[in-house]
Amino acid sequence: MINRSAFHKLSYGLYLVTACTPDGKKVGCVANTFQQVASEPPMVSVSLNKQNATTQAILESGTYAVSVIGQSATMDLIGLFGFKTSNEVDKFAETQHEMCSADLPIVLEHCVAKFVVEVRERVDVGTHIMFVGAVTEADVAADDAPMTYAYYHEVLRGKTPPKAASYVEEAPANPASEAAPAADAPKYGWRCKLCGYIEMMDELPDDYTCPICGVGKDMFERIEL
Ligand code: FE
Repeated sequence: MINRSAFHKLSYGLYLVTACTPDGKKVGCVANTFQQVASEPPMVSVSLNKQNATTQAILESGTYAVSVIGQSATMDLIGLFGFKTSNEVDKFAETQHEMCSADLPIVLEHCVAKFVVEVRERVDVGTHIMFVGAVTEADVAADDAPMTYAYYHEVLRGKTPPKAASYVEEAPANPASEAAPAADAPKYGWRCKLCGYIEMMDELPDDYTCPICGVGKDMFERIEL
């Protein structure tokens, strides 16, 4: 048997994996699968969904960069990189970043450490490709604690993007488990079925879009507060 709950006992960090397409377009996504796999020389791996624009860019360029994000990271930043596609949105237009010596963008917002990786092996693992590579640059960017996947879920109440390696189809959440509203708060809230963002208002306007993942009103479900 496979008890899906066992996977929830695995611990991860949260990372922004970035790359450049051959024509110079900057792309990036959120991953929880970046890890060190050997020490001398330092080798790492990251597993990314084949449908991600970032995956395609890494397949073509053979390099990627990683920002380890700190606990101060906002849902805005995670939502931009985790729930939107680089095919439709320029994720770097308003995101503070630098170009490394390998000409890859590295996100600097809430970054606590950064890595640049040269791909040595590509392993097809079904829905995902695992890129094993050699670290060519690494540095600490801030002393803040790195974000863990558990902190993201428990404190930021973040959801798992459908294309993540750890995605498991979730049962509808129990509204009673949400924090109790203040006395003057609206009676109803609206939960984004894609990213989990909750808007506290009784009615959503017809032109409402999720501030995190950008979907429209029809992707929101009403929850009693
Ligand atoms: Fe959303």
